Amino acid sequence: MPKPNMLLHNVSLKPYNTFGINVNALLFMEIDNNTTLEEVLYSKQYPDPLIIGGGSNILFTKDVERLVIHLNTKGIEILSKTPNHAKVKVQAGEVWHDFVCWAIAHDLGGIENLSLIPGNVGTAPIQNIGAYGVELKDVFVSCQALDLKENRQVTFKKEDCSFGYRDSVFKRNKGRYIITSVILKLTTKDHYKNISYGAIQSKLREKGINDPSIQQISNAVISIRQSKLPDPKILGNGGSFFKNPVVSMNQFRDLQEQYPDMPHYSFGENQIKIPAGWLIEQCGYKGKRFQEVGVHKNQALVLVNYGNAKGEQLWELAQKIQKSVQNKFNIYIEPEVNIY
Ligand SMILES: Cc1cc2nc3c(=O)[nH]c(=O)nc-3n(C[C@H](O)[C@H](O)[C@H](O)COP(=O)(O)OP(=O)(O)OC[C@H]3O[C@@H](n4cnc5c(N)ncnc54)[C@H](O)[C@@H]3O)c2cc1C
Repeated sequence: MPKPNMLLHNVSLKPYNTFGINVNALLFMEIDNNTTLEEVLYSKQYPDPLIIGGGSNILFTKDVERLVIHLNTKGIEILSKTPNHAKVKVQAGEVWHDFVCWAIAHDLGGIENLSLIPGNVGTAPIQNIGAYGVELKDVFVSCQALDLKENRQVTFKKEDCSFGYRDSVFKRNKGRYIITSVILKLTTKDHYKNISYGAIQSKLREKGINDPSIQQISNAVISIRQSKLPDPKILGNGGSFFKNPVVSMNQFRDLQEQYPDMPHYSFGENQIKIPAGWLIEQCGYKGKRFQEVGVHKNQALVLVNYGNAKGEQLWELAQKIQKSVQNKFNIYIEPEVNIY
């Protein structure tokens, strides 16, 4: 572990990204407090700094010729409690899954379906993390951020964030807002338990559980995720590489004539979401390996590094997949992963 709050030169980012790509940061700082973070960012001494959290949504395709800040600020505080809810403030550098475990241990509900999502709490609002029928926005109250354009602190309430599917105001203004803490509203009793997903229901049935606790839902989610997704510690990956595309009802009807088995979900009023994994699988990529890179055998949305891949090789594969999907279905699949 590098010493916190010290400027280092030429640091390998391999331990800081879940793809395990070995690129160097020209300058690197691990920051563990908000005062230092403000000083460094407001000084404007380092143009266009890159903030990283868990590095689970980043693909590095080359060395980073600027300052990389690994945000490691810690702290969880219960701000208020009513008979039904608690407001909890969490510092950006807390690991998301550790926070989920903390919440469950304190019998605070609402994020158990988001168990085991890699990354940090401060990054969770950026793509409005979601899984198994729950999104961050469902429990989000507000967050504090540093606005690097105006050099000031700003508070974003939920309505300011324009949360969407893997989307937010922060994603659309990349590099401008650095989130320093997040406030969430969690349930203290009468937890609303979302077990609508078939996979969760089957897992609970398997265990003979009818009325699950939030801990049991979390256990079910962890077990499903571990059986479906590769562990980045064993096989480098960034989770879903692409977002599921959304098409118009008209385009979907045309596609359905050609591909009657195409899986789909309604999205908003007149739109349809199609699983990108299915599209990629139809193009023949599932389980395919190309030297050091490939497409995971169980989940075609996940691109993997077999050990010594370069970021450009993964990005080339991603672009090849994009082209194949475009040619076969006339659908553009947008990367969910941030490419640098
Ligand atoms: C195996 C696996 C499974 C996954 N499953 C899911 C899933 O089920 N659902 C889901 O939604 N996502 C999933 N993801 C994606 C990922 O976990 C989330 O996007 C997560 O929120 C990324 O957090 P991070 O801290 O690792 O972000 P990083 O990769 O460190 O950063 C992502 C982006 O945010 C910026 N950034 C980082 N910290 C800050 C900050 N404090 N303020 C402003 N900008 C910042 C970075 O510069 C970068 O552009 C998965 C990833 C993996 C590897």
